[in-house]
Order: sequence, then C-alpha cells, then structure tokens
Amino acid sequence: MIHAVSQFAYLVGTVLFIFALHFMNSPKTARRGVYCGVLAMLLAVLATWIQPEIVNHLWIIVAIAAGFIVGVPLSRVPLTAVPQRTALSHAFGGLAAGLVGTAKYYLWVSEGPEQLTTFRMTAIVAEIILGYLTLTGSLMAAGKLQEIKWIPQRPVTYPGQNIVNIGLLVVAVLMGVYLIGNPTGPWAGVLFPLIIVLALAFGVMLVIPIGGADMPTVISILNSYAGLAAVAMGFVLDNKLLITAGALDGSSGLILSIIMCRAMNRSFANVLFGAFGKVQTVKAGTEQKVYKPETAEGAVQVLEQSSLVVIIPGYGMAVAQAQHRVRELYDQLRKRGISVKFAIHPVAGRMPGHMNVLLAEADIPYDDLVEMDEINPDMPQCDVALVVGANDVVNPAARYDKASPIFGMPIIAADKAKTVYAIKRSKNPGFAGIDNELYFQDKTFMLFGDAKAVIGDLVKQLAHGGGGH
Ligand code: NAP
Repeated sequence: MIHAVSQFAYLVGTVLFIFALHFMNSPKTARRGVYCGVLAMLLAVLATWIQPEIVNHLWIIVAIAAGFIVGVPLSRVPLTAVPQRTALSHAFGGLAAGLVGTAKYYLWVSEGPEQLTTFRMTAIVAEIILGYLTLTGSLMAAGKLQEIKWIPQRPVTYPGQNIVNIGLLVVAVLMGVYLIGNPTGPWAGVLFPLIIVLALAFGVMLVIPIGGADMPTVISILNSYAGLAAVAMGFVLDNKLLITAGALDGSSGLILSIIMCRAMNRSFANVLFGAFGKVQTVKAGTEQKVYKPETAEGAVQVLEQSSLVVIIPGYGMAVAQAQHRVRELYDQLRKRGISVKFAIHPVAGRMPGHMNVLLAEADIPYDDLVEMDEINPDMPQCDVALVVGANDVVNPAARYDKASPIFGMPIIAADKAKTVYAIKRSKNPGFAGIDNELYFQDKTFMLFGDAKAVIGDLVKQLAHGGGGH
C-alpha cells in the first residue's frame, strides 16, 4: 500500500515538475512555476521518507536541518549574485550524485559481487563521473563569478589543452568500462577512487579555459550534467522520479545553453573549447575620444520632445537597484503621451532574464519589454535611446571589430537612435573590459552618476515641469 502511495506521489511530482518548467516560460507565470517545483520536491521527499526501508529517521532530520542551514542564507543572496548561487546548487547536486554512487558501490561490494550487475555498474560509473566533474566544475564557475582572489578570472589556456582535457575524460571512461566488466576484479579497489580523482580534475580543467562572458552558458551546461548525474542516480537507486526529474533538468539545461549560445552568436563547441571572454586591453587609438557630459535638465528638454523613447537597461541598473526610479520615469514620460519601450538584450546583466525580473519587480507592463531582435528594426525611429547602466550590450564594436572579445555578439542598436543618453558612474568599461565607441559618437551624451540618482533627477525635473517647458 505504502509503495503504491509513494509511486502515485512520484507520478504527481513528475507532472508538477513538467508544469513548473512550462510556467517558467513567461515572467507572468514564473512564480507559479516556482511553487509547482517546490510542491513537487516536497512530495518527492515525503514519498521517499515514508518507504518502509527507511528505519533511521534521525539522519534524515539531520540532513533536512543541514539543508535549511545552508539553503536559507543562499536564498537571500542579492540578485546580482544569483549566477554563482546557481552554480553552487549544481555543485551540491553533483556532490550528492557522486556520494550516492560511491556509497552504493561500496555497499554492494560488501554484500557480494552478484549485486554489482552490469546495469548497476554502468549507472554508478556514469553517476560518479558526471557527479564529481559537476562538483568541481561548478565550484570553479562559482569562484570565478564571485571573483575569488585565488581562482584566475581570466581564461587559463596552454597549448594542447583540449587534448589533455579530452584525454583525461577518455582515461576515466576507459577505467569505468573496465570496472563495469570487473566490478570486484583485482584493480577495482584502485580504479574506483582513481576515476573519482580524474572526474574531479576534469571538472576543474573544463572550466579554467573559459572566460567570464561565457560563464552563464557553462553554468547551464553544468546544470545539464547535474541533471544527467541525477538520471544515473535514479537508475542506481531505482527511483523513477529521480530519472524523470533528472532528465527534465538535463534537457532544460542543455536547451538553455543552446539559447544562450545563439544569443551570444557563439557555437557550442566554441564555448566549451575556446577561451572566449579574454579581457583585452584596448589599443590606444590615434583619434581623441571625448565624452560629452550632459545635465539632467538638458536631457529632460530632449526627452519631453520625443515621440519614442527606448530605455536600454543593463547591469548598472541592477547594481543601482534603479528599477523603481525607472518605473517613475516611464510613468512621467507616458503621462506626456510619449511612447516608452524597454529593449531587452538576452545577456544584459549577469544572468538570463535579469532585466525582465527587475523590471517586473517594478511592475512595468510586460508588453513594453521588447526583445532585441524585435526592437532593433525600430531603433532608427527612436528619438532617444536611454542607456541605463548597460555597456557591452550596446557596443557597436561587436559588429565589426574582430579583435574584440565581444565580436559577433548581437547588440541593441542604440547607435541607430537619433539621440543617445547614457547613464553610468565613470569612464570605466563594462564586463568585457573594453571601451564603448557609442559613448564617443556625436549624438551621445553622458549622464554621469549612479543610475538611481540620475534617473531620480530626471523624474524630479519632469515632475516639476523642468527642461524649460
Ligand atoms: P556591462 O557591460 O557589465 O556594463 C555595465 C555598466 O554599468 C558598466 O559600464 C558600469 O559603468 C555601469 N554601472 C555599474 N554600476 C552602476 C551604477 N550603480 N549606476 C550606473 N551605472 C553603473 O553590462 P551589460 O551591458 O548589461 O552587459 C552584460 C555583460 O555581462 C555582457 O558582457 C555579458 O556577456 C556578461 N554576462 C552576462 C550574463 C548573463 O547571463 N546576463 C552573465 C555573466 C556575464 P561604471 O562603472 O562607469 O558605472
């Protein structure tokens, strides 16, 4: 009876996980997606806990308490730290899979070789390789994103790197194949821990040649590895929910990686084996680059006379937490009959959907959030492009400068607008570490300062009928 109840709960859990992913397709329903996922996870834990084989409840309570102690602070990190937080979650997933595979192997060895069937050994080998490489790969990715001092931020490359990396993986897989055929053979005691060491090393080697700009894509690839490790764990534990949830996780991670590669105009292999995102110093140009600072009052005069204003938010809006001021500006402009749209670049900010989340928090209607491909054809009709703490995603060098680390990445065509106002605090470059020629164009004016303060000023001017009108 208990078995039937738990199997039914697993089925409901699977359906809820599928709905969770479906609801994540739109910001409007994303919250519902999160609730579905939480409910599915709760069901999975309870349905497993009620199994009659589970006799020692104390360890489960200890594990749940440990999960709370680690999980609650992790859920409170600022939005800008979510990519590294996500990487940490994948590391925990990889570790769990690796440990379950290790424990099961030694348990079955002690129970007798008949337990170590080819099927089980294949699942265990897949689980430990994927699990442990996900652990160290994700820790490296989290460390790079968190800019931890002793982890090199720049891509670390050396000749023959891909051969070494692939060689490492091939050796681990070959050892695994041997172990599948001889699970308790003479070499098994050495090979099993050696595979773990190679998988851990491979995870590190996989991530060190990858630069910051590709880190989000790598994190979704590691997400997909964690999912596949969970599938293998499902086979080891004979747990159907783990198999289906792992497959959903694995495939959605893969799809997200492909979408992000497309957004960055990069091939999948290039992300994995290239050293994209190298921070390059800009060669000193012969021409003098001059910024034209502008005041809020001056900007308001032009804004008031516009028909179409396109706001282009970037990482700086997140840093300044300026989204609520942006909403006030949107309201002020709309009150004057000015059409206002938001141009959303797929990799603006530091995580997929970063801008959508912030603007949704400020209750900006979704219909006014326009994807890059849709807004770009309208940019020549745009009177003012207001860049709010964005840099790389509006850098025209991405179109033609082959030496630029962002070459090939599609950008929002702010440079096609009639006038550009750019809000940033200083002359510092953005994530890719390169100058932005948009800021030196004749039509561009800089509003230097913190985005929240500058937009606050614009709103104040508009509210008090500023700008000389
Ligand atoms: P960006 O190139 O990093 O530029 C952000 C700009 O915001 C900076 O130039 C900075 O200039 C300004 N800024 C920072 N704090 C500010 C504040 N308080 N007020 C006003 N301005 C502020 O950002 P982006 O244009 O959004 O491009 C995103 C970059 O991150 C891309 O290169 C992308 O590949 C990469 N990336 C994306 C993701 C993702 O999934 N979305 C993840 C990781 C990396 P000042 O210092 O002068 O103020």
